[in-house]
Amino acid sequence: MRSTMMDVPLTLPYVLERVQRYFPHGTVTSLLAAGMDAEGRPIPAKHRYTYADMARRAKQLANALVEAGVRPGDRVATIATNSYRHLEAYFAIPCVGAVLHTVNIRLHPEQIVYIVNHAGDKVLLIDNVLARLLPAILPHCPTLEKVVIMGPVPQQIPGALDYDTWISGQPDTFTYPEIDERAAAGMCYTSGTTGNPKGVVYSHRSIVLHNLGMTHPSGFMIAEGDTVLPVVPMFHVMAWGMPWAVPMVGANSVFASVFSDGPNLARLLAEEKVTVTAGVPTIWMGLLAEIERAREAGEPYDLSGLRELVVGGSAAPEALIRAFDRHGLRIVHAWGMTETSPFGTVSRLPAGVPHDSDEGYRVRAKQGRVPPLVDVRVIDDENRDVPSDGRSMGRLVIRGNWISGGYYGDETASRNSLVELRGPFGTEQWFDTGDIATIDEAGYISIQDRAKDLVKSGGEWISSVDLENALMGHPAVAQAAVIAVPHPKWDERPLAVVVLREGAQATPEDLRAHLEPRFARWWLPDAYEFVESIPIGSTGKFMKRELRDRFRDYRLESADSPA
Ligand code: ADP
Repeated sequence: MRSTMMDVPLTLPYVLERVQRYFPHGTVTSLLAAGMDAEGRPIPAKHRYTYADMARRAKQLANALVEAGVRPGDRVATIATNSYRHLEAYFAIPCVGAVLHTVNIRLHPEQIVYIVNHAGDKVLLIDNVLARLLPAILPHCPTLEKVVIMGPVPQQIPGALDYDTWISGQPDTFTYPEIDERAAAGMCYTSGTTGNPKGVVYSHRSIVLHNLGMTHPSGFMIAEGDTVLPVVPMFHVMAWGMPWAVPMVGANSVFASVFSDGPNLARLLAEEKVTVTAGVPTIWMGLLAEIERAREAGEPYDLSGLRELVVGGSAAPEALIRAFDRHGLRIVHAWGMTETSPFGTVSRLPAGVPHDSDEGYRVRAKQGRVPPLVDVRVIDDENRDVPSDGRSMGRLVIRGNWISGGYYGDETASRNSLVELRGPFGTEQWFDTGDIATIDEAGYISIQDRAKDLVKSGGEWISSVDLENALMGHPAVAQAAVIAVPHPKWDERPLAVVVLREGAQATPEDLRAHLEPRFARWWLPDAYEFVESIPIGSTGKFMKRELRDRFRDYRLESADSPA
């Protein structure tokens, strides 16, 4: 029997119309670079307008794109930081039926050329502060027909258009083409930590459903009355979908462009009375240092309106969660990846567990549970579910309406990313995340490692993430990364690479004594290397591959360590 319900396509034009109709007074605040100071540092300047302004300009941009020959299915690239103009592009490009391709600005120009060509981008919108990349890119990207510079054009770049001038003559109303909800709306390349970057293509439907998931109580719990600052870049997994989800529910947006350092962020969070913010752990480490400095100096920031700092992208150490709690600030741990749009799990506490109890911290340090419409399983080498005991490790697989089922133009990678599993609904395809996790009885997952970062000692797995988190709980340790180094007897053994806090001291024996009560002896790192800094990649994560290269020939002294 057929239902009597309407079938309304889930598309982004609907979201833009909703924002314009119901939340015209919602605000978008952007901290932008107004120029450079004498030492070459960007000078911050604030821009503020309303969602009514945003929607009008997004429609002007949509008209300009159509006039420039952009047709449904064409790819339009952005090389841009978080700002109001980028937000306009987030709406305008999918609303003309084209595909918003956000390019990671921190990639090497050769990698940018690779992905622009792979995607076949037709138009490029680029921030003025990034226009210096153009000479290294343009000659090698034959598909690019037009380059538009967002913000005052810094120098004469032949053929480049100024964004504001380009859209200014256009009408601020727009008639949408018919858009299939399953058509491509956005694309993002994985940052290529292994091999060439791979393109993930989001549909209108997946984005709209993801918006609902993000704002849902089991997600980021965002609603009208909130002011949201996504520190996570718009070029990295679509800033976790927040540029669409936040206006859709009428919350205000705040963007920080190039100003993601501790002092600028702390000031912006306080001035704008931000209620929810989101980013990777390294960002919050910088913020914490600034909050502590300011408090000691007797000039604390007023962050009383800040309800939650969502942390994802890498594991949030329990020590970081506790440290923010001491300032009355709540960290919420989330997990996801480019292929999962990225909302996979969020660690919300089960009813009745206080956030600052030992049990509360134990749960909050996990990556959490899936929202409605997404499911996960943890499987062993024979594709059987591992026990839900919170201890047994296996491959994390995921399935749902905003989970990618393949990669753009790469059949082999697409095939290899999927695994067929039996379940209550028959045999289904699941996406293999490449992460190693445990799952407990209540369905909370805990990420142990990326499969390629695991330390395999004598055939057993050691979780580098667990060791790192425990090390970062030592008062003298600022940052820690644990990597596998070759070992003659055990194949691999863990080496801890540690950055000490300024002025703090610790010996390998101190760190070992700190870990001993927490881990089986054979898990303990064989050696500790103290370094000035740990290399950080384009998305703010530790670059373990670089560390592994650096310590490839490391000689461990004892051949019998795990005894
Ligand atoms: P890249 O693979 O280039 O880093 P992604 O953002 O897609 O880009 O990375 C997703 C990966 O980041 C996940 O597969 C996982 O390994 C890691 N990750 C994300 N969130 C967390 C988290 N909360 N804890 C541990 N690892 C995480």
